[in-house]
Order: sequence, then C-alpha cells, then structure tokens
Amino acid sequence: MKPSQELIMAPATAPGQGAIAVIRLSGEGAIAATDSIFGDKQCNGKDLTSKKGQTLHFGVIHENGKIIDEVLVSIFKAPHSYTSEDVVEISCHGSSYIQQQILSILMHKGARMARPGEFTMRAFMNGKLDLSQAEAVADLIASTSEASHQIAMQQMRGGFSSHIHQLRHKLIQFAALIELELDFSEEDVEFADRSALKQLVMEIMTEAKKLSASFEAGNAIRNGIPVTIAGKPNAGKSTLLNVLLEEERAIVSPIPGTTRDTIEDVITLGGFSFRFIDTAGLRDTVDEIEAEGVIRTRSKIKQSSIVIYLFDIQNTSAKDLREELDFIQKDLEAKTWLLPVANKSDLNAGGNLLEGFEDIKDILCISAKQKTHTEQLKDALVKAAASGMFHGDDVIVSNARHAEALTQTYLSLDTVYKGLENGLSGDLLSVHIRAALHHLGEITGEITTDDLLDKIFRDFCIGK
Ligand code: GDP
Repeated sequence: MKPSQELIMAPATAPGQGAIAVIRLSGEGAIAATDSIFGDKQCNGKDLTSKKGQTLHFGVIHENGKIIDEVLVSIFKAPHSYTSEDVVEISCHGSSYIQQQILSILMHKGARMARPGEFTMRAFMNGKLDLSQAEAVADLIASTSEASHQIAMQQMRGGFSSHIHQLRHKLIQFAALIELELDFSEEDVEFADRSALKQLVMEIMTEAKKLSASFEAGNAIRNGIPVTIAGKPNAGKSTLLNVLLEEERAIVSPIPGTTRDTIEDVITLGGFSFRFIDTAGLRDTVDEIEAEGVIRTRSKIKQSSIVIYLFDIQNTSAKDLREELDFIQKDLEAKTWLLPVANKSDLNAGGNLLEGFEDIKDILCISAKQKTHTEQLKDALVKAAASGMFHGDDVIVSNARHAEALTQTYLSLDTVYKGLENGLSGDLLSVHIRAALHHLGEITGEITTDDLLDKIFRDFCIGK
C-alpha cells in the first residue's frame, strides 16, 4: 500500500468554544503551507521549513496583512510524527470563528479536510501502528473508566498483536514448507516437520481460544458490565436505581453516539462501568417474576453479568427468599452473579434483620430510601467486577472484530490439527493453514481490504 501524501487538516480538539483549539496538518508540504501564513507580529515569515522537528514556535497566523490569531506552532518532521509524515499542530485560541478562518486559509494553500480517522489511518498505512493498535486509539479516546482505559492502553502498546504477529510468522514458514512439498509431490518428501507443526498449531489454538474467551469480559468492560435489578413490586427497585444513578451520574461523561437514556443508566464505580440493562422496561415485567410466561424478563436477566435480587425484608421470609432465588437461578448461566439484597431495613426497630438468612450467600441488607449500607452494595459490585472480569495483566480482547477473527482462526486450525492426526494431504492442509493465516492477519492488518479499513476508520473522530 502506497502511503498517501496529500496534505490533510482537521481540528484535533472537540468542536465548540474552548480555551485553546488545535488544528492538525499532515502530509507533504504541511510545514511549508503553515510557514506561508505564519510570522512574527509584523507578519514577517519565520522560515519554519528550516527549523528542526519537534520544536515549538510562537507567532501569528495572518492573511493579506491581517492577523487572525496569535498561535503556537509545533513541527514534527517525517518519520518522527504520529502519521510518520510531516505534521504541524497549530494551537490557536479556541473560537470556532478563528478555527474556521485558519482552516479556510490553509485550504487555499492546498490542504483538504481530513476524513474521520484519516490521521490514524495514515499512521497504520505508514507502519507506525498495526491495525489493532490503531483501533485501540479510538477505544482510548472513548474510554470512560479505569478498566476500559487499561484495556485500550494495553492494546495500543502492542498488547496481543505482537504475539499474534510472531505466531503468524511461524505458521507462514510451515505453510511455505508444505507448499514446497507440493512441488515435489512425485517424490513423496516431507519438508515440514509434522510434529513441530502440530505443536505450533496447538499453541496458536490455545492462544486463540483464550483470547476469544476473554472477549465477553472485555466487551463488558468496554461497554459497561450488564446489571439487572430484579424483584417483586414495591421491593424498592426504582428507588435503589435512582440512588445509584443520582450519586454517580456526575462522573459519567457522555459518550458520543450513545443516546441519553443509555448514559443515564451507566454508572462508574471503583474504575468499572456498570450498565443497567433496560431497567425501565424491565421494571414492569420483573414484577411478574413468579407468573408464567415472563420470557422477556428472563432473557433480559440472562444478558446480565450481575443480577441484584432486591426484596422487602418486612414481608419476605428466608424460606420465600430461597424459593425466589432458586427460581431465578435456574435461568442464569453459571458465571452470572446473583446478589440477594434485603431492602427497607429502616422500617425495623432494631435487632439482627438477617436472622434466619445466614445461609444465603453474599446477602446484604440496605435501606434504599435512607441510603444506608448502599456503599456496601457498591463495594460488592466492584469486588465482583474485579474478581470476575479483570485479572491484572491478562490480555483481554474487547473488540468484536478481533474476537470473530480469533474464533475463525481456531476453527481453521482445528481442521489442520485433525488433518495432521488423520494424515490429510498436504494440499488440503495448506488450504486450511492459509485460512488461519488470513484470519490472524486480519487482526494485525497484514490482511486488509478497503471496505474493512473504511468501516474501522469511519467511526473515529475527525482530527484523529
Ligand atoms: P419498585 O416497584 O420495586 O420499583 O419499588 P419502588 O422503588 O417504586 O418503591 C416502592 C415503595 O417503597 C415506595 O413507596 C418507596 O418509597 C418505598 N421504599 C423503597 N425503598 C425503601 C426503603 O429502603 N425504606 C422504606 N421505608 N421504603 C422504601
């Protein structure tokens, strides 16, 4: 792929008014174009083209003797820049008018507006980042919690893609040897050591399986761990949800592209995002939890990683609760955590409210209305997230495209492995090894199509 050298530009800061705004240019002539509109306060040029890379220059942007703004210009010379091309960043005052003026003058100097993600796409095309690292840049920008930030950071720094890259290259060597055998088919020779190949195939399969299995956790971390509050009518579900949301809403930042409803149902606690699944819609139907035909509710509950079962301690006996929990548990997958929470503790005069409930695992007692012990509930959610989802330095796949490619890799290699055990012919082995190579290459970007690249980069912000 030949890198494009067209000069592109875009505001790199968020739209609207701000203290400062940054306009970024990349491509051939970026420095000369800036130089032609940049100067000292008398508009005398500063000859930016002769300056070293990674330097900062103070001056004005002017057009026909008129000063548009006082700015700072950063110069990066190829290949030591984000895109690997000549890059200039103009930090101006954050008025939309000033930004528009500067962009318009630069347009006359031959720059065109960049498409979404075009800077990062160039970084990829020029070999600065592989594809999974480029995708991690978008995730990093969208990260709203410590955990999602950590995953994006890990992926951007090479995460699993350098490992995939190595395994792929080992597999390529085998593919070449097997294909060489095909040229000597008359002579019945084996260049590729079958037992070493089997070992490598197994190694990659194990890795692919482990990584694709981490996707569920990765996806939950990226989009919020799905939580449902279930319980009978009047248990206090809406009260509890409001308590959780009201307190935490302030630190949830809006994510572009998501609706307001979604934002309101996400809270960030202890570095994790929790997403309350369609709780508003669910509220009416969970009330019928014991009735027949609550399929919709059940399917919602099934999508959750955590189900909070809220009950009114005033009118629920331990026996009732055990039955209700058993009923819900039936529908849950083994990994879903069911957390029984007794509510309305404030209505009781005192004493141990949970007497008789001791054998019920993880049970908590709160008052949603008085907000007592709701901290304990939050701690429990965070603890569950930390233990079930995120294990320190483990590599976690959070991108659906990567998970799919890993699954496909596994399936192709499974055929190769079985083929090796059953003495499958070299030409058929080669077909399946090629398929696995293709899927592995899709992750790192060694195999791409224009469609795929368009799809990935169009979700980026302009200017990134
Ligand atoms: P939902 O039907 O499960 O969503 O229950 P709501 O949240 O609408 O609450 C039902 C009633 O219980 C309301 O009158 C709430 O004010 C009340 N309630 C909720 N939590 C508590 C609590 O902790 N203590 C007391 N005393 N009342 C509560």
